[in-house]
Order: sequence, then C-alpha cells, then structure tokens
Amino acid sequence: MALRVASAYRTVSTEAALVIAGMIPIDILAEERRELAKAGGAREGNPKVERKKTMRKWQQRWDTADCGEWTRSLIGDIETWTGRKFGGINYFVTQFLSGHGSFGNFLERIKKRDNNKCIYCDEIDSPQHMLRECQRWAEQRRTMEEEIGESVTTENVVKGALQTAKS
Ligand SMILES: [Zn+2]
Repeated sequence: MALRVASAYRTVSTEAALVIAGMIPIDILAEERRELAKAGGAREGNPKVERKKTMRKWQQRWDTADCGEWTRSLIGDIETWTGRKFGGINYFVTQFLSGHGSFGNFLERIKKRDNNKCIYCDEIDSPQHMLRECQRWAEQRRTMEEEIGESVTTENVVKGALQTAKS
C-alpha cells in the first residue's frame, strides 16, 4: 500500500516506502491501538503520549534498517518529514527520494538500460549526480542555494525543498 501511496517502484524497500509515504508501520500502529484500548475505561489512554512512543519506535526502526540508505540520507528524521505542511509527494518526488527511478545507475541495475550514463552529460547518473553535479540542473540548484543560503546536500535538500515550497 505504501508503494501505491508513494507511487514508488516495486523495488523500493518497505521501510523506505513507508517513510516516504508517511505511513506508520502497521505492527507499530497496532501496538499503539492496543495500549490505548488497554488504558480505556476509568483511566483513558493519552493518544498524544502513545503517538510519541509510536514515532520513537518507528524512528528507531528506520535508524537501524539495513536498507533505504539513500532515502535515510535525505529523510533522517521521520517526524520532521511527516509533520511537514508543504510539499506533497508524487511519482517524480518519490523517484528522487527512493533513488529508484529514471537514473542511469538504477535503470542499469534493473536491466532496463545497458549503461549507467547520464543522458545530459555522459557522467555516471544517480540521484546524487542529479542533486550535486549535473550541469543540466545547475540553474535549479542555484535557485535552491540562494533560498537556503548554503550548497545543496543530501542532508539539507529535503528541508530546502520544503522551505522553498512554503515561500
Ligand atoms: Zn548529468
């Protein structure tokens, strides 16, 4: 379902797809429901407190997941990402966030292409290449850098994009 919501390639790991889509893993959500139900009756469970615990568990799982490395470098903190007020996800955003999409390195890996070269500049193509190197995106990169006041990196691009979307 997360793959659907995020319009992600089937090759994207569950952990990464859930984070991109902002969907709490079902088993963690079930635990939260159980805790709330247990506390019901005289002593009502506090949904806010339980949600905090849920987010902590989810974050822990994401921090230690053995997949989704690229996505994690972009979206480290789940709450910042899921709590955003701007910036919807779509097919293209998901390609970048997952690294699974129209990138030479990915297309070669899944054997949709026989080389990993960028179609614009002939360097090895990857999300990182698009973000940091490719001259095709120099102008967009400059615009964002003006906006966020520093050079674009995997660590700040998502924050920068949300900031740009807001202004
Ligand atoms: Zn290029």
